[in-house]
Amino acid sequence: MNWILKLKRFGESIKKNVLKKFPSKDDQDNSQWTPLNCCNSGPTLKSDLEEHLFVCPNCKFNHTINPKTRFDMMFGENNWEEINCPLPPDNPLNFVDSKPYSDRLKSARKKTGQDCAVLSCVAKINEVQMVVSALNFDFMGASIATSECESLIFAIQTAINKKCSFVLASASGGMRMQEGILSLQSMAKLTIAINELKKNNLPFVVLYCAPATAGGTTASITSLSDIAMAEEGVTIAFSGKRVVAATVREQLDENIQRSDWVLDKGFLDLEVERKDIPNKLYKILSILLKLGTEANKENNDETSENIVQITKAAS
Ligand SMILES: [Zn+2]
Repeated sequence: MNWILKLKRFGESIKKNVLKKFPSKDDQDNSQWTPLNCCNSGPTLKSDLEEHLFVCPNCKFNHTINPKTRFDMMFGENNWEEINCPLPPDNPLNFVDSKPYSDRLKSARKKTGQDCAVLSCVAKINEVQMVVSALNFDFMGASIATSECESLIFAIQTAINKKCSFVLASASGGMRMQEGILSLQSMAKLTIAINELKKNNLPFVVLYCAPATAGGTTASITSLSDIAMAEEGVTIAFSGKRVVAATVREQLDENIQRSDWVLDKGFLDLEVERKDIPNKLYKILSILLKLGTEANKENNDETSENIVQITKAAS
C-alpha cells in the first residue's frame, strides 16, 4: 500500500469515527440537553432553561422565543385567543434569488408552523384586555412583507373594534427585500394604522424582544409607540454597526444599539426582565387607560420611579 492510499484511509476513518459522533439536528431536537452559546456555562437541561423562561441562569442572556411560548409566558398556557387574519397571495413579484422566494416561504412555514411571521392574540392580564402581536424571528428573520403588514393591520383594527390596547412584541430584521417596494409600503400603511389607533385614544406599547429589531421596523411602527420597553440586552437599531461606522468614520461605543445604550439616549422608556413583563405591562396599561388600579396604590420605590418615567413618556 503506498502512502497516498494510507493517508486516504486514515482520512476516511477520521470521517467515520470522529465526525459522525457530532449530533445531527434531529439528535439535538430529541435531546434533553441544549448547548448555550451565550456564555461558557456548557450544556444545560432544556427543562431548566424553560423554567428560567429561556433566560440564561448564568449570564442573564435572553434567548429568542417564538410567539406561542411568549403568549403562554405572558398570559398563562393557552390562556389567549389567536386572531386569524386572511392573508394576501404569496410572492407577488415572483422573486428568485439564490433560490425561489416561494421555496423560502415554504421552509419558513414548515420550520415555524406559522403562515407568516406575525402571530396575534386577544388576552387579558387581570381585567385589562389587550391585543398582542408577536413577530417570530425564525420566520425569515421576522422581516415584514405584505402578509405580515396585513396581519398587523388586522390586529390593530381588532384592538380598535374591541376598544383595547395594542401591544407589539417586536423582533424583526426590517422589511423583506424579496417583496421590494411592496414591503416598503408597509411602513406607510402601518403608520396610518397606528394613527387610527391613536385617534381612538387607545394605547400602543412596544416590547423590544430578543434578539433584535432593526431596519424599516424600527423606522416605522415600533418608533410610534406611546411606551417602549425592552428585554435586557436586546439590539435596537436601524443600520448595522459596521454600516454606521463606515458611514460616520468614527470609532463607535462598544455598547451602541444595545437596549441599555438606547435607554441612556432616551429612545427607550424602560428595560424589563422577562419574568416581570406581565406585571409591568399591566401597570403601564392601567396608567395609560386611567384605570386607577393597584398600579397607583403600590408604594415601592421601583414602581414609583417607573410610574414617573412612564407618565413622562406618555405625556
Ligand atoms: Zn449564558
